[in-house]
Order: sequence, then structure tokens, then C-alpha cells
Amino acid sequence: MNRSVLNEIINHCREDLPYEACGLLSGQHGRNEMMWKIRSTEKSPTSFAMDMKQVSAALSGMKKLSQTMTGMYHSHPSAAPLPSRDDIRNFHDPAAAYFIISFANRKTSVKCFKIIDHKAFQVKFEVIR
Ligand SMILES: [Zn+2]
Repeated sequence: MNRSVLNEIINHCREDLPYEACGLLSGQHGRNEMMWKIRSTEKSPTSFAMDMKQVSAALSGMKKLSQTMTGMYHSHPSAAPLPSRDDIRNFHDPAAAYFIISFANRKTSVKCFKIIDHKAFQVKFEVIR
């Protein structure tokens, strides 16, 4: 993932504090090259729900750029960067990178997971310039 994209994601999540923020990632060849802010229809510090209208707008925007969805992100304003039980239950794309941005203990941390068969596996990701 590009450093600039990661910074945009962190900024978006910070703007929406104390609520959870969410968005999609897209790119070519499985690289996360762009982020798409999605409005959360739940204004909550412990959950989010993507505005499906914005999701379909983002998906057609990706198509226009010959990109595909490569992942998604959401924030945990005060919880550790680990997928919650609901996060795992609600996500069904084993190919997508699942990023969580945590602001727990006033520290920003980012972790990436793959969610396969209702299990979360942490994966490494690379930040490039
Ligand atoms: Zn979560």
C-alpha cells in the first residue's frame, strides 16, 4: 500500500472519531492503490455499517479506472486492532485485505487481516512510497 493512501485512510478515520469510520480499497494486481471513503450509517464508537449506495458508487468508480476492490478498512476508536466477532461474521471476501485502524491508548496502529471461513488471520502488508 502506498504511504499516501495509508495516510488518507488514517486521516479519514481520525476525522470520524469518536465513531468508527469505514471505506474500500482498490487497485490493480491486488495492490491497494486507492481508498474510497464510505459513510457509516451507524454513528457508533463500536460498530459500523457501510452505506450501500456509496459502496455501489465506489465499485463503479473502480470499474471505470480498470481497478478491482482489493480490500476494506474500518477504525476501532478505542479497541485494539483486532477483528471483533461481528467484524468476522459480517465479512465474506477471502481475497480482500481487511485493515483495522486502531486509536486505542492514544496510539495509532494499523493491522491487516484475511478473513477466511469465519476466521481472521493477520497478514503482513508493505508500505511503499
Ligand atoms: Zn471492527
